[in-house]
Amino acid sequence: MSGIIQKYHQYLPIDEQHIVTLHEGNTPLLPVPRLRDAICPKLAQLYLKLEGLNPTGSFKDRGMTYAVSKAVAQGSKAIICASTGNTSAAAAAYAARAGIKAYVLIPKGKIALGKLSQAMIHGAKVIAINGNFDDALKIVLQIAAQGGATLVNSVNPDRLEGQKTAAFEICDVLGSAPTHHMIPVGNAGNITAYWKGYCEYFREGKITSRPRMMGFQAAGSAPIVDGKIIKHPKTIATAIMIGNPASWKASLAARDESEGLIDKVTDREILKAYKMIACLEGYFCEPSSAAGVAGLIKYAERGYFSKGDVVVCTLTGHGLKDPDRAIEVSAKLQTVRPTLKEVLKVLKI
Ligand SMILES: *Cc1c(COP(=O)(O)O)cnc(C)c1O
Repeated sequence: MSGIIQKYHQYLPIDEQHIVTLHEGNTPLLPVPRLRDAICPKLAQLYLKLEGLNPTGSFKDRGMTYAVSKAVAQGSKAIICASTGNTSAAAAAYAARAGIKAYVLIPKGKIALGKLSQAMIHGAKVIAINGNFDDALKIVLQIAAQGGATLVNSVNPDRLEGQKTAAFEICDVLGSAPTHHMIPVGNAGNITAYWKGYCEYFREGKITSRPRMMGFQAAGSAPIVDGKIIKHPKTIATAIMIGNPASWKASLAARDESEGLIDKVTDREILKAYKMIACLEGYFCEPSSAAGVAGLIKYAERGYFSKGDVVVCTLTGHGLKDPDRAIEVSAKLQTVRPTLKEVLKVLKI
């Protein structure tokens, strides 16, 4: 067993001694035939890439292992990030593993409790600001520029280098690339990283085709789709609630080079997909993670896909990060007196 840096070392150069890993990566690529039949039966196969099964529960671990390893190799004693939650969880965990400090700025009241608890238990210095993610990023960029700590947001290119390994894993499992790759878009780093991964494998002849990259923003937070910075982004999908994405330009290149698209889905569509994944296939992802599947539903309804297409949806983070949302969208919990009769009355068996 090893993490992504050892497994893909020729793509992620660094001295062995500096590697900081929690054995991230190697996440399941789960075939989901029931979900396929419910959404788009003509697909040859539909897969979910379960990134919530990384050590801190999101794909951010892939980027963090490499960014922190590089920081350590350069002698850095601290890392800093702004975060909608998962970046801070990963930064805090990998900093703990490396024995260095982590500083985290989060938008007050806008991050899921599970994520906040992770950053805190790993001993990061967490500060909430009365502002949004974009405000937080502006501040940490300035602090990092002063040299006090290494920036580990996805503007750090090492993050995207690590994250591209998810595309490698998909091709290694399938023996080829999918025809379409559906993915949530927030800061737009991950869609950029996947495309980089597919392109590197393509150049080396490990795959003979590349997928169309299909990115999905939340409707209340869709600067790339709307073509303008969103000052006050609003969505239940807090992990993608970003009004001015750092990798905006690079994601447009991924979209255009792959002949794919970036579109938006409503919170309602996101929550529908979130529940379908959980109820039809038994996998619990966080709401933001379901944006790619929501996009799949939207485009399947429009007749976009062809018979035989092979589609992968990245589920970016684990559902337990945000249990409140799951309870809120589920049937109300009923409480009855402790008798067989009362229980049977409710169960209707
Ligand atoms: C970070 C994150 C995203 C968005 O990824 P970007 O690289 O910012 O586009 C989506 N879902 C989850 C769960 C995340 O943590």
